[in-house]
Amino acid sequence: MLTIQRPAIDPRLDLFAEIERLKRELNAVILAHYYQDPDIQDVADYIGDSLGLSRQAAATDARVIVFAGVHFMAETAKILNPTKQVLLPDLAAGCSLSDNCPSDRFAEFLRAYPGHIVISYINCSAAVKALSDIICTSANAVAIVNQIPKDQPIVFAPDRNLGRYVMAQSGREMVLWPGTCIVHETFSERKLIALKVRHPDAEVIAHPECEPAVLRHADFVGSTTALLKYAGTSDRRAFIVVTEAGILHQMQKAHPDKLFIPAPPEADCACNECPFMRLNTLEKLYLCMRDRTPEVTLDEATRLRALTPIERMLAMSPK
Ligand code: SF4
Repeated sequence: MLTIQRPAIDPRLDLFAEIERLKRELNAVILAHYYQDPDIQDVADYIGDSLGLSRQAAATDARVIVFAGVHFMAETAKILNPTKQVLLPDLAAGCSLSDNCPSDRFAEFLRAYPGHIVISYINCSAAVKALSDIICTSANAVAIVNQIPKDQPIVFAPDRNLGRYVMAQSGREMVLWPGTCIVHETFSERKLIALKVRHPDAEVIAHPECEPAVLRHADFVGSTTALLKYAGTSDRRAFIVVTEAGILHQMQKAHPDKLFIPAPPEADCACNECPFMRLNTLEKLYLCMRDRTPEVTLDEATRLRALTPIERMLAMSPK
């Protein structure tokens, strides 16, 4: 494997100030996902979930997009902004959903379902987006499926748990690609029930990537942004949060008077933290801006084919 040797960072550097300086120098915007480390969230110009980040990527007039998230998110920004440089602090920041749905296997899978419309969750590669008719996020998946004529068969990929949730909400049957998120499938129903007993006044709020056995205990199910908003509008004082633990930083910042309890994974591990998201660090963020690498690039034919289903999503999403 090629190892890029970079000069070490001077330990006396104030990375927060340096990142601000580089932002001005490069005319850069930092887009960060809610699942990033708190330090990264604190230097970001915009923090959001996949839908919000896509909208920001489409709207920005910055010359450089620094994407503090995982690879498919930075790729989406590149699809929307071909002339801008898109930097990702660590190119190895993948995603189990995207990585386990390679485009060649997906194309073969689709051959068994002619006449189906293909709706893909944004957590997939540009090559899989290029094979899809419409992209969706967890925030708009139900609304998008509800806009498809009732007699039109649908393939939904790559997250089978989100697919099952959409099927339950929309009353539509769909063919599902069998992918899962390694973080959201890890939550334990048994431990969640025990936690509810210890905190009887807490509401359970969960992301639809969780297994159905966990979701049935949720008082509210929604995208990361929806969970954050719900925590603000609910009159409850405590919440058991069943999604990646990074969102707790924004929840606690926005509502310091409320209690947010991370839901426990099955094993005694930090499996409720996405290992891909955590590959990005403040140091790597600084280095990618200083050195303007690693950069996400795409061949133009794939980019153009992937752009159409993303544009359909943006047009079909409730505002
Ligand atoms: S939390 Fe799950 S879906 Fe999100 S990037 Fe990590 S592996 Fe992918």
